[in-house]
Amino acid sequence: MTQHTTATHGSNLGIDGQALWSDLMETARFGGTPKGGIRRLTLTAEDRQVRDWFVRTCEALGCTVTHDSMGNQFARRPGQDDSLPPITIGSHLDTQPTGGKYDGILGVLGGLAVLRALHRSGYVTRHPIELINWTNEEGSRFTPPMMCSGVFAGVFTEQEVLDKRDRAGKRFGDELEAIGYRGSEPCGQHPVTAYFELHIEQGPILEAEEKTIGIVTGVQGARWYEATVTGKDAHAGSTPMPMRHDALLAAARMIETVSEVALSHAPTAVGTVGLIENRPNSNNVVPGEVFFTIDMRDPDDAVVRRMEEQLYSQLPEIAQRSGVTLDIVRIWDAPAVHFNPACIDMVEAAAVESGYSARRIVSGPGHDAAYMARITPTAMIFVPCADGLSHNEAESITEQDATAGADVLLRAVLKADAAFNSR
Ligand SMILES: [Zn+2]
Repeated sequence: MTQHTTATHGSNLGIDGQALWSDLMETARFGGTPKGGIRRLTLTAEDRQVRDWFVRTCEALGCTVTHDSMGNQFARRPGQDDSLPPITIGSHLDTQPTGGKYDGILGVLGGLAVLRALHRSGYVTRHPIELINWTNEEGSRFTPPMMCSGVFAGVFTEQEVLDKRDRAGKRFGDELEAIGYRGSEPCGQHPVTAYFELHIEQGPILEAEEKTIGIVTGVQGARWYEATVTGKDAHAGSTPMPMRHDALLAAARMIETVSEVALSHAPTAVGTVGLIENRPNSNNVVPGEVFFTIDMRDPDDAVVRRMEEQLYSQLPEIAQRSGVTLDIVRIWDAPAVHFNPACIDMVEAAAVESGYSARRIVSGPGHDAAYMARITPTAMIFVPCADGLSHNEAESITEQDATAGADVLLRAVLKADAAFNSR
């Protein structure tokens, strides 16, 4: 039988796993796809729907819900000493275009399960507890990702983010106004005591090792690039092969090189071309221009730098050999992140005392926690997802693991509540 409720600090403070699961299924309707995933791009009507749900649900648990100038939402539960900055929990409710039901969402709704546990038991923490829904974590509609936790942590300015445009030319600031979530509190002027984030692993390690909890010690470094290859549009029937300037053929060679560069730093490094636009994209025209993105990552910043050097020397060579020109720009640089040792220990102790199998792990993907770690003691908790699959409509986790993750989150938050700002 599934154990639906966990118990912490006696009998009546525990996670209601069934309520958590029901929240996951209920919010999956906002942008739900026929294949069982979610399409809930940031600042769309579906995003507004889930935000409205978040406000209603948190208010029903006695929280006050506000949002800042970037649309980040804060559900606050008062503590014994409201002058203390809050212990915060957060993640994101936006998804990829063909996203799953758990990436980001488990972190917010797991935090909601913590608020529910506190509310039902009447337990009053020393610090206020705040649950945060960050705007545009995914970076799919507006790049880069983790945009608004980035503003919160001082990595980006508010104005540069407001002026970002999606590929349809729509401006971030206008779209934020349009869904009614541009608040008056300036983003970032909101002191916090600590930050915890629960997330699915989005990789295969926990499942392969049959571990329930990943104690996340940090996030690997990543750099993103945009490449534009320019050749010449030409008739596919009349242009002899030696006289072509085929941008797509050159791009294909470059894409292979991206993979080879990552493989040259096996087993940790990864390199991906995930977005490509071919112009004019007509069956009888030699392509004249191709735009594509590159994503390179490794836990060691020195390896990421080395991979960039390899790309910057090898891709222009391919362009020259292929009779095209290449324009490549780095658009995102996220150094490797090391979480707070005390917060990591709290997560580990929480996993141990609740009897879950656990291991320490470095996050492959970036998360809002990576930026929060710059301004406050931070750690993360991972739970397994089936086949390590994420950014996919088939993303899948179990109710037991979701409950276990929220249980560890609750215990870690209570430990932080006891440990920080002690007098
Ligand atoms: Zn996520």
